[in-house]
Amino acid sequence: MSKVAIIGGGAAGMFAAVFAARRGHEVSVYEKNEKLGKKLFITGKGRCNITNACEIDELFASVLTNAKFLYSSFYGYTNEDVIRFFEDLGVKTKVERGNRVFPVSDHSSDVIKALEKEMKRLGVVVHLHCSVKTIKVEDGKFAGLVLMDGKSVQADACIVATGGFSYQTTGSTGDGYEFAKEMGHTVETPVPALVPMEVKEEFVKELQGLSLRNVRAQIKDGKKVLCEDFGEMLFTHYGVSGPLMLSASSIIGKKLKEKELTLLIDLKPALSEEMLDARVLREFEENKNRQFKNAVTKLFPAKLTPVMVERSGILAGKKVNEISKEERKQFVYFIKHFSMTLTNLRGFNEAIITRGGVKVKEIDPGTMESKLVNGVYFAGEVLDLDALTGGFNLQIAWSTAYAAAMGIQ
Ligand SMILES: Cc1cc2nc3c(=O)[nH]c(=O)nc-3n(C[C@H](O)[C@H](O)[C@H](O)COP(=O)(O)OP(=O)(O)OC[C@H]3O[C@@H](n4cnc5c(N)ncnc54)[C@H](O)[C@@H]3O)c2cc1C
Repeated sequence: MSKVAIIGGGAAGMFAAVFAARRGHEVSVYEKNEKLGKKLFITGKGRCNITNACEIDELFASVLTNAKFLYSSFYGYTNEDVIRFFEDLGVKTKVERGNRVFPVSDHSSDVIKALEKEMKRLGVVVHLHCSVKTIKVEDGKFAGLVLMDGKSVQADACIVATGGFSYQTTGSTGDGYEFAKEMGHTVETPVPALVPMEVKEEFVKELQGLSLRNVRAQIKDGKKVLCEDFGEMLFTHYGVSGPLMLSASSIIGKKLKEKELTLLIDLKPALSEEMLDARVLREFEENKNRQFKNAVTKLFPAKLTPVMVERSGILAGKKVNEISKEERKQFVYFIKHFSMTLTNLRGFNEAIITRGGVKVKEIDPGTMESKLVNGVYFAGEVLDLDALTGGFNLQIAWSTAYAAAMGIQ
């Protein structure tokens, strides 16, 4: 039996605490906040998308950085294991669109409560309001912790589960990166990921709050298509957000840091250009004697209509029966290629996750132990791992936490 000190009482820290304690270790968790799982509480809009019920291949495909590193931990603790774990603790789960798994209650607090209860049952000691200042290392081995108040903590091993750098009010302020650097680890530069993006054109302000379901988005660098997907997006006062845009940001984020990119939205992806032309023609025929701006209101949500009219190249007051076939065709093309200029990613405070972190080449993928310092383990978002939305990032936290807990002798 070892004495295990866990830094961070978020998703990975709590999960690691449960499994280390189940193995018979004496476990203490050090959490700087006044309560455990502050970020977990806000996951999935307060509903906590705990994992994704997809095939294991898709789990790997949804990891954007260092998927191979996760081979043993994902197989060692799968999405099915996660579902079973929570069901066994009394958290009934349900599967929603895109295989997203949520608690039936729709309350992330139930996930946190279940973990807390299990930790208590197993005798895990939780120290709240307790920030870890440094990790001591002697002769290449873990030698204890120093807390912010100067107190020392003796333990045989520690798990660094301090999270990333985003939504810092939840406690994830990047401390783990500093601990890692002090121990000689390389930290890949943290950048915001799954993050809204800024748009150059002023018209987005008019669209603020508008959510578009079932659109196809393409992001291009010149003629080169960088990513393409289908789903739901949201306009904000500065640009674009929503699941489709958040996922896209993780794919094109690096490029967007270098240069502006073009976002093309197909507003009617279910219709081919011919079908859409027929639909527009029908609207025009029914509204022959009206002005263009009043003839297209059925085609778009109310907020979008004035923007589409203004940007179509057709005068808003033009009589529909004066619109040429050529103009109509261009309008149809425009609906399928509604274009904007992406200028930047938003900051860490709006990023769902952090890309970058402790370099995984310096970590044992089977046990999550540091290859540089014996007895120090890493789990969760502090590592240079990130995935798309859909429960995949929490799966990374659970699987790596399990591997670390099992790795400690
Ligand atoms: C708005 C939002 C919604 C999300 N929704 C989902 C979702 O539905 N599904 C999904 O899969 N992922 C989601 N994520 C991502 C997911 O929350 C994270 O990937 C996950 O929480 C990472 O777990 P972690 O334990 O590594 O880090 P965290 O959960 O961030 O926990 C780290 C903990 O360490 C503590 N800590 C840090 N430094 C110290 C220190 N020096 N001393 C003591 N304690 C310290 C922090 O206070 C914190 O409690 C969401 C993220 C956000 C921001």
